[in-house]
Amino acid sequence: MPFLSAIWRRLGEGLHPARCVGCGMSGTFLCDRCAAEAKPSEPRCPSCAELGWPGVCARCAVRRPAFDSATVACRYMGAARDAVHALKYRHVRAIAPTLAGHMAVAVRQRRVSADAIVPMPVHAKRLRDRGYNQAALLADALGALLGLPVLAGALVRVQSGRSQVKAPGHAARWANVAYDFEPGADGTAGMRLLLVDDVLTTGSTMSAAAWALKRGGAVEVAAVAFAREER
Ligand SMILES: [Zn+2]
Ligand SMILES: [Zn+2]
Repeated sequence: MPFLSAIWRRLGEGLHPARCVGCGMSGTFLCDRCAAEAKPSEPRCPSCAELGWPGVCARCAVRRPAFDSATVACRYMGAARDAVHALKYRHVRAIAPTLAGHMAVAVRQRRVSADAIVPMPVHAKRLRDRGYNQAALLADALGALLGLPVLAGALVRVQSGRSQVKAPGHAARWANVAYDFEPGADGTAGMRLLLVDDVLTTGSTMSAAAWALKRGGAVEVAAVAFAREER
């Protein structure tokens, strides 16, 4: 029922004036205090942001992700999780700039520098069902806040396991990952990129995407997510 779901989506947007998903404070979708309650505690693995590692975690020591660092604004809990649900499942697209604002703070604190931003692409079916890519909304808002261009066509999502290319370096360490991504039309050769998603879990999907960006010539890829889901 695409027509009805479009109506629901419209209603969902209209019915959501800015109120904090955590405490109900008006004027913002996620207030600083509620975001601070979900603030990522330290120490964290600098490579994948997993909690509890003062240096590189055991998993990254064995198999390093193809992205060079991982930065998250919040843990996937409490109001931060509610905010992601609003963005992804309740069609509150207007929440994206608020979440991107928290991401921009984390990016500045970690002093991650970049030339451009790339959103994680979603599956075509998911895009049809939802009507938008939540990572692209976050990327656009983050680009505006950081003054960086957004390369929405830098990555293409392909059928899982379709392109079994042999590539050097990271490929050897991520040999058993099904390659879900290919470099797209937007060139990224020689660039330092922020790869943006809403939630970072194991990092294997973002790693596959980062690897595709590196096959496309990117020199550095920093994973940036609004929230980190602890394993
Ligand atoms: Zn709040
Ligand atoms: Zn790690």
